[in-house]
Amino acid sequence: MATAPATPESPVAALLAALPPGLATADPEALAPHLLDWRGQKRGVAHLLARPRTTAEVVALVRAAHAHGAALVPQGGNTGLVGGSVPEPAPERPTILVSMQRMARIRAVDAAGLCLVAEAGAILAHVHEAAREAGTMFPLSLGAKGSATIGGLVSTNAGGTQVLRHGTMRNLVLGLEAVLPDGTVLDQLTPLRKDTAGYDVKQLLIGAEGTLGIVTAAALRLVPLPAASAVAWVGVADLAAALALLGRLRQAVGERVESFELVPADGLALVLAHLPGARPPLAEPAPLNCLVELTDADAGAPLADRLASALADALAAGEILDGTLAGTGAQAQALWALRESLPVAEKADGPSLKNDVAVAVADVPAFDSAARAAFARAFPGARPLVFGHLGDGNLHWNLRAPAGADASDWLARHGPAARRLLHDTVVGFGGTISAEHGIGTAKAAELARLGDPGRLAAMRAIKAALDPADILNPGKLFA
Ligand SMILES: Cc1cc2nc3c(=O)[nH]c(=O)nc-3n(C[C@H](O)[C@H](O)[C@H](O)COP(=O)(O)OP(=O)(O)OC[C@H]3O[C@@H](n4cnc5c(N)ncnc54)[C@H](O)[C@@H]3O)c2cc1C
Repeated sequence: MATAPATPESPVAALLAALPPGLATADPEALAPHLLDWRGQKRGVAHLLARPRTTAEVVALVRAAHAHGAALVPQGGNTGLVGGSVPEPAPERPTILVSMQRMARIRAVDAAGLCLVAEAGAILAHVHEAAREAGTMFPLSLGAKGSATIGGLVSTNAGGTQVLRHGTMRNLVLGLEAVLPDGTVLDQLTPLRKDTAGYDVKQLLIGAEGTLGIVTAAALRLVPLPAASAVAWVGVADLAAALALLGRLRQAVGERVESFELVPADGLALVLAHLPGARPPLAEPAPLNCLVELTDADAGAPLADRLASALADALAAGEILDGTLAGTGAQAQALWALRESLPVAEKADGPSLKNDVAVAVADVPAFDSAARAAFARAFPGARPLVFGHLGDGNLHWNLRAPAGADASDWLARHGPAARRLLHDTVVGFGGTISAEHGIGTAKAAELARLGDPGRLAAMRAIKAALDPADILNPGKLFA
């Protein structure tokens, strides 16, 4: 059961009565779509759905939660992949799902100052449009851009396909407005480029997964809109060859390498099967494919020529097997669709174990070989599907059940041990178990098992200091 009824004398009814009229509802039908996560693997439980329109309404929610011992679970687009955006069952405690979707205004775009201020519920694609209309770009993108919100992106410290050049959300937030667990408004929205006046509290909230505050708005760093770009799809034999290509491109064009993404042959096959109208980009399928984008603010930059010449050299050196350059914007978009549709195609194919690991870029081939060998020994027949942000050393090292097995049953029996094996391997290489998706509930036990004890102790101390009543997103991050 996903919701609990609010009887007149119940704590939930008392909480609802204490809130400003129209802010929250106990309607199970309104709540239902917010309680199932994107993976379709986790159904949460909440009593009320609140949809604040202003920062003052968020303050009212936090104060009422204090007075009534309630829990608040912030939610943006509900595209998170680690179970962080849906509430844990807490039978004794009224739980409010706080959807930020009504706070979706773009408050300001300052093209000269390269800054955009958006409310937490603003959808990433809308932010892209607003920045583009002003002749600028917000340089963070990902497959869920049509639903993911600024508040969710801030709270997961999201990455995506342009981290190589522009960094993660942490590098792109100039200022933040948030409601802290005691109802105080953190008013750090001013887009200062420099500020050494004490702790950078806004950075604590970035990546906090809604456990330290409810983000209500963010001042985002923009960059000039690239005037030239070149996109290529390149087939390679293995990861070492892919990294050789990345090195060659960096030598050739420096930081104009904006994206360097990995799509394996089996991932491309899934996309071709599930994406209407998708066509194979190369004449012969390659074991691995790299999607490369170069950009430049100078409209006259001969990027396509330089990319073509670097690829010709790579072909002559035996580093790549084949490649195709997008000749038009539409062709570039079609190549990007092949990469961005991979998570959706994977989901359509059936349940899988989603992972989000990173190692130093140079260690990627050795880590991948070690992980494949370990899995072949421990889980014969299980099928890794490894794709992602190769230029950042960040692989979605996902696992599908052996062909012919009941995937749900296999994952229920072997998923936890498989995840431990992968994480042990990644930690053995000095890597991280979560590069960009966060911890949520899916990886909380693993963080407790493998996280640096000093960092975990500091995290617990910060949580206890800012949110001693554990009002905000209880059960997330910490096992
Ligand atoms: C197809 C697909 C592709 C993806 N690709 C990438 C990728 O390339 N890179 C990447 O980093 N991620 C990726 N993701 C994951 C996901 O899109 C990101 O984690 C995104 O940041 C979540 O945004 P959201 O608005 O949907 O947040 P939600 O899923 O609603 O919430 C995520 C977390 O943030 C918290 N939260 C949400 N809003 C607020 C707020 N206003 N204040 C405080 N806490 C809040 C929630 O409580 C939860 O813990 C992908 C997901 C999908 C489905």
